[in-house]
Amino acid sequence: MNEKKDCIFCQIISRKLPAEIVFESEKIIAFKDINPSAPVHILVVPKKHIKNLSEVKEEDKEILGEIQLVLSNLAKKFKIEDAFKVSVNNGKEADQVIFHLHYHLMGKFKS
Ligand code: 5GP
Ligand code: ZN
Repeated sequence: MNEKKDCIFCQIISRKLPAEIVFESEKIIAFKDINPSAPVHILVVPKKHIKNLSEVKEEDKEILGEIQLVLSNLAKKFKIEDAFKVSVNNGKEADQVIFHLHYHLMGKFKS
């Protein structure tokens, strides 16, 4: 899966670093954000090391499609399907810190 040695998310995918994994398939992994901005804050990540949305290719269509489905299913699993936000930071100036594509799934803004 073209793992990048210095990439934190690649290391989570290969279990070299721990994470609270909430979903995994052949192509996708999802785990809890270490520094959550909402009571539910999950990162949905392709196992393939893709830098960000600007770098996706035609061949990544299937992965991108599955991510949408995983986001929807996880929203149901964590009971936030009525109100959740999905965001992608693309590029340093848009606050991207980890340069391995990931979707933030956030919910439960009020208790
Ligand atoms: P970005 O700003 O790149 O869109 O978001 C990176 C996200 O990854 C941040 O919300 C940050 O809290 C999270 N994060 C950074 N390092 C780790 C880590 O080692 N484990 C987990 N679970 N999340 C991380
Ligand atoms: Zn990576």
